[in-house]
Amino acid sequence: MKYVSTRGQAPVLGFDDVLLAGLARDGGLYVPEHWPAFSAAEIRALRGLPYDRLAARVMAPFVAGSVCAGRLDELVTQSYAGFTHPAVAPLKQIGHNQWVCELFHGPTLAFKDYALQLVGRLFDHVLTARGQRVTIVGATSGDTGSAAIEACRDRAAVDIVILHPEGRTSEVQRRQMTTILSGNVRNLAVAGTFDDCQDIVKALFNDLAFRDELSLSAVNSINWARVMAQVAYYFAAAVALGAPDVPVSFSVPTGNFGNVFAGYVARQMGLPIERLVVGSNSNDILTRFFEGGVMKADGVVPTLSPSMDIQVSSNFERLMFETLGRDGQAVERLMGEFRAHGAVAMPQGAWTAMRTLFEGHRFDDEATLALMKSFAQSTGEVLDPHSAIGAGAGLKARLKPETPLVALATAHPAKFPDAVERATGHRPALPPHLADLFQRPERFDTIAADIGAVRDYVRAFAGRSRA
Ligand SMILES: *Cc1c(COP(=O)(O)O)cnc(C)c1O
Repeated sequence: MKYVSTRGQAPVLGFDDVLLAGLARDGGLYVPEHWPAFSAAEIRALRGLPYDRLAARVMAPFVAGSVCAGRLDELVTQSYAGFTHPAVAPLKQIGHNQWVCELFHGPTLAFKDYALQLVGRLFDHVLTARGQRVTIVGATSGDTGSAAIEACRDRAAVDIVILHPEGRTSEVQRRQMTTILSGNVRNLAVAGTFDDCQDIVKALFNDLAFRDELSLSAVNSINWARVMAQVAYYFAAAVALGAPDVPVSFSVPTGNFGNVFAGYVARQMGLPIERLVVGSNSNDILTRFFEGGVMKADGVVPTLSPSMDIQVSSNFERLMFETLGRDGQAVERLMGEFRAHGAVAMPQGAWTAMRTLFEGHRFDDEATLALMKSFAQSTGEVLDPHSAIGAGAGLKARLKPETPLVALATAHPAKFPDAVERATGHRPALPPHLADLFQRPERFDTIAADIGAVRDYVRAFAGRSRA
């Protein structure tokens, strides 16, 4: 499979180069040159397969030419072997024709594990084959850092340094990162805010000499391989509910648009998805867009669903590319307008086309707590704030009652115990594999919010294996 950039100017690459590159050289995002199609018979043949076998079949066309089928099978099996539910992504019924797909049975209790566990192994595989190493550097306000560290720990060809703002993550979040004592992992507690951490990471990537010296890399949410791995659970859920002979709709709590875009990909591959419903918190750029056709950035306000506190949904560019007839120049022009003015109107035809599949609904914190309380009371399903927003958006959407609706639950309630306790009166317990999290030894280094200090630290750490 070959990949093209959404801005049309970057070189066409194979899967392995796209994996390592992340962002395209023209500032765009990589998408497959064409969508692999599964016939109805091929989709039917997925029924009853264990999650890892199904996932490997769904992903095989995307890595063709870069990772052989046998190796992909192995990597996928290893990726999900440590998940704590035998179904990996189990469905639970919460109402008439309404289901929750629980995507929080991975090591760090959020759906990001479903992609990152595989991406860490793919990095290792591709780099080892090339005789190369990379240093992954990232900033986190909590969730992404722990999923990335879990995915990269003990990988031979990868070092990883994650910056978090000292004292500003929750204790569960910090401990999920700092209790990983693997030799290739370092945590830096930065005396500053999340924005300081992000600015430092950006500055390191912009220092091209340093970037080349240590082969800096990132595993952020625009990486195509993350989207690819997420396509699998759309197939798993839909097939379990009768696809391809029954259409299915999904509702998805959305921040960077990576998760819900994987649903779009599944549909392009032939899965009969009727509707994709996007749930937002008060940071509702996407919901406003689907309502009015104008993408307009606003300031970010902190909410009870922090993983969706974003100003711009970076993966949305992939949907733009698709609905603009894969015209990279049109994408470039519209993104330029957005950068310059903080707002851009989509051409009428493209917006109308998007609305035949997508719709958005928003919930502020008060509405989120009310949703969590009512789901717990009426169905017994305790949802974290993100998952409740996704499920709530599904209920608000105008859907055919005969079409099954699957709400993706993106985090375990115990990841957000304060919000869950506020909503339901009960404090959720961590699952057994993390029950002793508060007794485990931690390791992290504290550092000033200073680019030079962090650069020296990364060089001393990652350089050790290159000397
Ligand atoms: C990252 C995250 C989201 C948002 O997913 P996107 O792919 O960025 O839209 C939603 N919920 C949780 C719990 C997350 O960690």
